[in-house]
Amino acid sequence: MVRDVPIEESLGLVVKGWRSTDEGLFLRVQGHQEEVRLISGCGRCHWIVREQYRAEGPKLVVTCHGCNEQMTYAYEGSGPAVR
Ligand SMILES: [Zn+2]
Repeated sequence: MVRDVPIEESLGLVVKGWRSTDEGLFLRVQGHQEEVRLISGCGRCHWIVREQYRAEGPKLVVTCHGCNEQMTYAYEGSGPAVR
């Protein structure tokens, strides 16, 4: 099961894992059974993903391919096994 979530409603998600596919970016998030698919304000769901290891804790930074909208989440986990 997948839940489509607009980017503006995704603030504060804690990401446990992610995968990027032809259908978009899917996140596993704390407290949710379903995977979350992020929808940008421009209607696209394809994102550039960067894992950042900061002093205050790991972050996942996503940037929209279409409009460069950006969001940062707390990140607890590891990304795809293949990098
Ligand atoms: Zn966009």
